[in-house]
Amino acid sequence: MTALDTPAPSVQENAWEMAREQLRRTALLAELDESLFNVLGDCKKAVEVSVPTRMDDGSVEVFTGYRVIHNVARGPSKGGIRYHPLVTLEETKALAMWMTWKCALMELPFGGAKGGVVCDPKLLSPTELERMTRRYTTEIVDQIGPETDIPAPDVGTSPQVMAWIFDTFSMNKGHSVLGVVTGKPLHVGGSLGREKATGRGAGYCVREALRRKGRHVAGAKVAVQGFGNVGRNLAVLLEEAGATIVAVSDSQGGIHNPNGIDVLDAARHKAETGSLGGYSEAEDVTNAELLLLPCDVLAPCALEQEITADNADAVQASIVCEGANGPVTIEADDILADRGALVLPDVLANAGGVVVSYFEWVQGLQEYFWKEEEVNERLNEIVTRAFDQTWTLHETRSVTMRQAAYLLAVGRVAEATITRGLYP
Ligand code: NAD
Repeated sequence: MTALDTPAPSVQENAWEMAREQLRRTALLAELDESLFNVLGDCKKAVEVSVPTRMDDGSVEVFTGYRVIHNVARGPSKGGIRYHPLVTLEETKALAMWMTWKCALMELPFGGAKGGVVCDPKLLSPTELERMTRRYTTEIVDQIGPETDIPAPDVGTSPQVMAWIFDTFSMNKGHSVLGVVTGKPLHVGGSLGREKATGRGAGYCVREALRRKGRHVAGAKVAVQGFGNVGRNLAVLLEEAGATIVAVSDSQGGIHNPNGIDVLDAARHKAETGSLGGYSEAEDVTNAELLLLPCDVLAPCALEQEITADNADAVQASIVCEGANGPVTIEADDILADRGALVLPDVLANAGGVVVSYFEWVQGLQEYFWKEEEVNERLNEIVTRAFDQTWTLHETRSVTMRQAAYLLAVGRVAEATITRGLYP
């Protein structure tokens, strides 16, 4: 039995196995050569680093950090850095592989990478966070660079963290290197439109999906899980376009109002009280309940594996937009497909961030910056093109949107790998 014939065990638990299983299914559909599957199914490089950090009380805490490069056949690798207590090497490898497919689907000249530090950033003071970030950057300084591997924000990291990475790398080189990291604050080489780009890209995908069903964003009922960079921006943008946002949530729980939530007002409530719960204009719901609410579009925008074999049957939305990476397990994906729900896969639905990160990298290399309308227009063009291509394959080959996206993306990376040839 070959690697291609063997389904991965316990795919619900292990993000890396889930990513490998998605690739294996694609390889079978695409009749990919076994040796190519083996090359694409592994990560090019993974480093684990120790990050000793002086805390404000004078003690020293040692954090563990990772940087994983999955594939560079189409260009330097690109991928975010996550600060979260549950970061693992396996999860980082899965996220790196997903980045490879995402960049290829968007036709960006990048491969995929991801990084992370096992920590709870909420428990660190700003000075501790800065010292930890600078030490982590120094530990991976030989891995990253504008021509090799370009980090960006992810869960738990912010434009400020990117600014520290940019500054630390630049201090090591002796001059400013704008292209080393994206998602930077505007006044140190960030791009207009980057902050909202992932939510915006997801919004374009929701718009296109509804259009294919003869519907419009205006009037659609949407539930969004996760109220961070992706979820909050998506909710605001869809509300602006006329959607009714029936529910939103953060890690502590959510709120629901079938007649619609004023998202900015809910954000104000969260800023004042520290959580969405207790908002007077809506009922409290748990995160588990939010996923099962009646709505047209469900957008899981928090963490992985939220929709599983245990709850997929009860999801009522006809469109599931994966704002997060890997929120739908493989078994849940099959259940949703059988039920006729349209899942907009993460590699398509949350690619807006990496598209504008690409724009930021280009602007940084040229030291010439674009207007926000220009950024949004080009983002719309790229995401809509990828959606069209994916939709066409989904229809012509009668495969799910995820399978179509993977067929396109894996095919492009495979083609580049074959054309470049194996070194030496
Ligand atoms: P973030 O840290 O800004 O926000 C995460 C949100 O999820 C917060 O509101 C948090 O309270 C909530 N959350 C955390 N655990 C939760 C749980 N168990 N249940 C419900 N909510 C929970 O992170 P982000 O940048 O918005 O990223 C969210 C997801 O989108 C991640 O999967 C990330 O990999 C993916 N993503 C982000 C970007 C980007 O540009 N930021 C791009 C592509 C994909």
